[in-house]
Amino acid sequence: MSMRVRFAPSPTGTLHVGSARTALFNWLFARHEKGQFLLRIEDTDQTRSKPEFLKEILGSLQWLGLNWDGEIEYQSRRLPHYTAVADKLLTEGLAYKDGQAIIFKVTPGQVVSFEDLVHGQVQFNTLEIKDQVLVKSDGMPTYNFACVVDDSDFQITHVIRGDDHISNTPKQLLIYQALKRNPPIFVHIPLILGTDRSRLSKRHGATSLQEYRQMGYLPEAMVNFLALLGWSPGGDRELLTLEELIHEFDLKRIGKTGAMFDLTKLNWMNNQYLKNASLEELLPLVEEKLSEKDWWTDKLEPAWVAEVVELYKSRVDTLEDFCRQTQGLFTDEIPFDPEAVELRLKQPGVAGRLKIFAEHLQILQAWDAASIEAACRSIAEQLKVKAAELIHPARVAVTGRAVGPSLFHVLAVSGKERTISRLLHAAETLCPS
Ligand code: GLU
Repeated sequence: MSMRVRFAPSPTGTLHVGSARTALFNWLFARHEKGQFLLRIEDTDQTRSKPEFLKEILGSLQWLGLNWDGEIEYQSRRLPHYTAVADKLLTEGLAYKDGQAIIFKVTPGQVVSFEDLVHGQVQFNTLEIKDQVLVKSDGMPTYNFACVVDDSDFQITHVIRGDDHISNTPKQLLIYQALKRNPPIFVHIPLILGTDRSRLSKRHGATSLQEYRQMGYLPEAMVNFLALLGWSPGGDRELLTLEELIHEFDLKRIGKTGAMFDLTKLNWMNNQYLKNASLEELLPLVEEKLSEKDWWTDKLEPAWVAEVVELYKSRVDTLEDFCRQTQGLFTDEIPFDPEAVELRLKQPGVAGRLKIFAEHLQILQAWDAASIEAACRSIAEQLKVKAAELIHPARVAVTGRAVGPSLFHVLAVSGKERTISRLLHAAETLCPS
């Protein structure tokens, strides 16, 4: 039999990284098994479900590349079906009415158990489970009821979902029993935790996928990172392509304990992907980011933008970080870091050195990194100072920052006129005279 899984988001909020990870595990399993990955929208909560959330969830799944099979199912379009199934349980005496609501009878003192692929044998006593509402008085099915009807109607073989649903599973199993339908295999995956080991929340930073997209993480990096939240291919491999993830994915390697969302690791990973990304992939993303900030103009030479991207891509964590580091190149504003100004510019002798540097650059014939470097080294020799005494202040003067790529390359892409005017500006206004 072919494996069938589903991802069943409720469009009552944006896609949380935890849900994205659940979607990814389902998707990887389906692709590994050459099965089906279905998408079901659990939109029976009519007040909290919003079309804009649905749109964002679908957009985030597409952005990650998690394509689904077949048509999307919407629970809101299957209401008569749930009522019919509940009516059948009424007729069989397995449910009763309370006003308009239909309630499922739970016999106390029974043990419900199942074999979870992650947690092993799980047992609940029905003493802990109250009678279950199947259909509310407003005619809407409850989550547990609609979920069972749909999972069995669509012949789902594996339900892979977050640990937070584990206590719903015995309730669902009782409904399967009453409906005389076979339950799927359950796979409850561990929660995602913040670095302080408490459940990941807003307090830890961004939790919705669209925020990460907005900050300029690449979807490949995000997929790689999410895949390793609670799963590992064994060994210490951390960078895996989508093909490798599909090939390696195995439910048996899902851990039992909470998975830590470590932003430092995500940043490292995204940097690796940015570093290895081709210009063809990066340029459109950079253009989009620059446009958002109104930094993009038609006057920008694509070849020049490409040079800037080449120069910075191996040292940025995200596209937002790229903008932070290159603001001085794309705008006339120099984002001066006060500490860097203090350390590198507010020092005796710096003004003079910057002016001499500017004068020498002025008479340079060629404007490229090698010529700029040669000029810098010869001035340093003449002034009997280390080249660093010119390089550090010049970097702050031109970029506003204490760190960055090779200064000579930075000055080369900054352009002659701009470099000289910034060196002089710093010498005259920021350095002590
Ligand atoms: N709509 C539920 C949720 O988003 C689905 C849970 C399940 O996969 O059964 O948590």
